[in-house]
Amino acid sequence: MKHDFDVVVVGSGIAGQTAATSAAEAGLSVVLLEKTDALGGSSAMSGGSFAFCGTDEQAAEGIEDSAELFLEDMLEVGEHRNDRALLEAYLTHQQQTYRWLRSHGVVFREVESSSGHSARRSHNSAIKDVLAQLHQAFTKAGGHTGLNHQAVRLEQERTGRVTGVVTRTPDGEEALFSGRFGVVLATGGFTRGTELLKIFAPEQLAAIPYGGRGNTGDGLRMAWKLGAGMADVSSVSGTYGSHPDTGEESHELLLAYYMGAIVVNKNGRRFVDESQNYKFLGRVVLDQPDGLGFQIFDAKVRAKSHRGLPLKDIDALEDLGHVFTAETLDELAAVAGIDPACLVDTVSRYNAATAGEEPDEVGRASLCNGVGDLLPIDTAPYYAYPAKSLLTTTYCGVTIDRNGQVVDVDGDVIDGLYAIGEVTGGFHGAAYLPGTLLGKGAVFGRIVADRLAARLG
Ligand SMILES: Cc1cc2nc3c(=O)[nH]c(=O)nc-3n(C[C@H](O)[C@H](O)[C@H](O)COP(=O)(O)OP(=O)(O)OC[C@H]3O[C@@H](n4cnc5c(N)ncnc54)[C@H](O)[C@@H]3O)c2cc1C
Repeated sequence: MKHDFDVVVVGSGIAGQTAATSAAEAGLSVVLLEKTDALGGSSAMSGGSFAFCGTDEQAAEGIEDSAELFLEDMLEVGEHRNDRALLEAYLTHQQQTYRWLRSHGVVFREVESSSGHSARRSHNSAIKDVLAQLHQAFTKAGGHTGLNHQAVRLEQERTGRVTGVVTRTPDGEEALFSGRFGVVLATGGFTRGTELLKIFAPEQLAAIPYGGRGNTGDGLRMAWKLGAGMADVSSVSGTYGSHPDTGEESHELLLAYYMGAIVVNKNGRRFVDESQNYKFLGRVVLDQPDGLGFQIFDAKVRAKSHRGLPLKDIDALEDLGHVFTAETLDELAAVAGIDPACLVDTVSRYNAATAGEEPDEVGRASLCNGVGDLLPIDTAPYYAYPAKSLLTTTYCGVTIDRNGQVVDVDGDVIDGLYAIGEVTGGFHGAAYLPGTLLGKGAVFGRIVADRLAARLG
């Protein structure tokens, strides 16, 4: 069966929905194809923070910020390995994307500080509502949605121009969706793509796979098959701090080590300066036995738990039965499955270091990134939270130009093929600045939609 549209958008997260809705509102006929039986992908599971600057919310709080400062932060965190053209495109279009989201009813609840940002600019939203609002506008503008339609192959003319996509439904039915003006890949990352992880980031196979159910890297694979370039593939990293039983419905993450805990492996040994970035910890924990690190703390840290505040909510994790507790370190080690003698020895040496009696064995000098004094672990009861690295996002992917057009390994544009959101690489460089993943999905979704709408003449 063949269906003709102006534009075919593949994937229904923030990137796909922004592009599809913008394009439909500009008068293009658009189909939004989604592999699973539900819209939203990783976007719907996310924290909902968008990095924008120059917003009304920042102005209302007197936050001083600028595009120049934002650019510096992205380059600094990305270790200047980012594709500067993409960052400049983001900064040129982020203001109008922010206003466009607001005009679709999106409410930004608070402006939060996040690591790597030198100004408060993480604009928090109720992301499920955002996606629902966009989809409502898409349907109202005459857009068509195909759930359970997995794109499996791109169609190309002899000239190389991409003209459409072949889909398959769960019962095996195939259809061709042609896009007169273009095909937009918005298929997200490959956190659940074992085969691609084996190729690009095999060490991450030890992390807990997370993110959208359909995020197996199909878009990346289809573009790769046509010669697309790849960028930032060495930057894939999980986040340390999730219980091994973390499932699709529970996004469980505890950063007690920034509140005063230490992290030990099953042998009771520390293996990293715990004050460092949680992505770095996410890498080093993979090399520990079973990829496991136990956050060890005492009653003083336990008292800092903040119910309802993700990352600090020890109460909620206790309710789930995921935190071990005991009156002595020996007993704690026994119930948690840690070497007892080593744990007692490790804590005793850490306590000596906090008192300045000897250097810390892993060089830790603060609670988090230079801030906060170390606390001895000396007040019963004692606690252990076993945690692994959680792979939420892959941060890398196909190369695109500032217009969102896919660029091949030789630097030439693949005519008719666009890619936006997490399936793309080059934007983040060495590491991701919080809020720029949802941000880049929405901003490049708008850029691509505007470009396609211009084809209407
Ligand atoms: C727990 C968590 C918290 C996060 N918090 C934040 C945050 O606060 N701020 C931030 O900026 N980022 C955050 N991120 C990262 C961010 O959510 C994602 O990078 C972003 O949402 C990706 O958007 P996307 O539209 O590119 O892809 P997705 O939202 O993943 O959507 C891709 C869609 O494409 C579909 N698809 C895949 N293959 C096919 C195919 N062959 N055919 C059809 N459909 C297909 C998928 O099923 C999926 O629905 C978080 C991620 C997670 C998991």
